[in-house]
Amino acid sequence: MASKKPENHKTQHIGWLRAAVLGANDGIISTSSLIVGVASSGANHNSIMVAGIAALIAGAASMAAGEYVSVSSQLDTEKADIAIERIEILTDPESEKNELAEIYVGRGLERSLAIQVAEQLMNKDALTAHTRDELGISDIVSAKPIQAAVSSAAAFTIGASLPLIAVFISSLSNLILMVSCTSLVFLTVLGALAAYVGGANMRISAIRVTFWGALAIALTAMVGKFFGTTTL
Ligand SMILES: [Zn+2]
Repeated sequence: MASKKPENHKTQHIGWLRAAVLGANDGIISTSSLIVGVASSGANHNSIMVAGIAALIAGAASMAAGEYVSVSSQLDTEKADIAIERIEILTDPESEKNELAEIYVGRGLERSLAIQVAEQLMNKDALTAHTRDELGISDIVSAKPIQAAVSSAAAFTIGASLPLIAVFISSLSNLILMVSCTSLVFLTVLGALAAYVGGANMRISAIRVTFWGALAIALTAMVGKFFGTTTL
């Protein structure tokens, strides 16, 4: 019998993809804006480089901390729900079985078959059946704080290193132009890539992220110029 071609569903990638793209976008936008702002204030090449590296480290740390804290609280909620479910199954298995059967009836099973399925699944592993089918928590979507923190910090670092490379290869005279242009190109590519992997419209996604990136860079350039002229 011909072996079935493995299905490539997008849901499996959603968890880490969203964190990765968010991190990389943030890395490019926040670091390039900061670099352009500092450069617009008239700082020298070395100070701009130091500011960029500081932005990368600070940003990666705050992304990791933010993801870890938010995903951990999601994990806490999941654990609390599972604990409640465990008690309910122990104290009232009959109505828990009926509840599960109702879920399967709602999904289209005949009542008699639904009760049979609920019974067999509860005999095999009641908590897993309820966690998956009632609470909607399964291995694929359950919260993984460390994975989320590491992937978003890594993605931020990769994103932030792109404008830093542009600083490294640019002279002071064309630094602002180089950092702005390369960052906007990276944002466009990343926006399109994220849409492609997520099955969304690539053009809209690319325009959306590039617009916000350009706005952020323009705003910080204005602020840098303003403070550069007023303090020097
Ligand atoms: Zn239940």
